[in-house]
Amino acid sequence: MEKRNEMCVEFDSRSVNEGFARVAVAAFIAELNPTMDELADVKTAVSEAVTNAIIHGYEEEIGKVNLSCVLEGDAIEIVVKDTGRGIDDVEQAKLPFFTTKPELERSGMGFAFMEAFMDEVEVKSAPGKGTTVKMRKQIGRKDD
Ligand code: ATP
Ligand code: MG
Repeated sequence: MEKRNEMCVEFDSRSVNEGFARVAVAAFIAELNPTMDELADVKTAVSEAVTNAIIHGYEEEIGKVNLSCVLEGDAIEIVVKDTGRGIDDVEQAKLPFFTTKPELERSGMGFAFMEAFMDEVEVKSAPGKGTTVKMRKQIGRKDD
């Protein structure tokens, strides 16, 4: 039977939790025996999405970030959700080097990294309501 497993955690939008989220996802996908490269890719993508929720979603406020993962066969689906300020124009936000916080020395590469390191990235956002980033990646199948 195909492997299936799910997990979900919710944490405060504090920057210290970026590390928690990376490690939680890394531990969860361990059963797929990812390579070091695959693990690094997934951790970077999670880190970018969670950092965005913390810095842009909630800004100075503390809100909840919801992280859920579904492992199905040899694929992992990761969803990072906030109920913060939302994004006015998602297509524009996804462009490399686009940032609304240049003063914080953000480089505007978060979404570009997520797209480079994961197979699929889907962003849904509503201004004033929040943002959901859904990412998928197949693990351990290099010969097709
Ligand atoms: P970097 O990730 O390189 O530090 P960045 O965060 O500005 O810089 P992206 O991660 O690509 O770059 O995000 C682009 C823009 O999309 C952000 O500047 C912000 O305006 C918006 N954005 C991204 N995620 C969210 C979110 N969860 N809530 C609100 N706005 C967001
Ligand atoms: Mg970012």
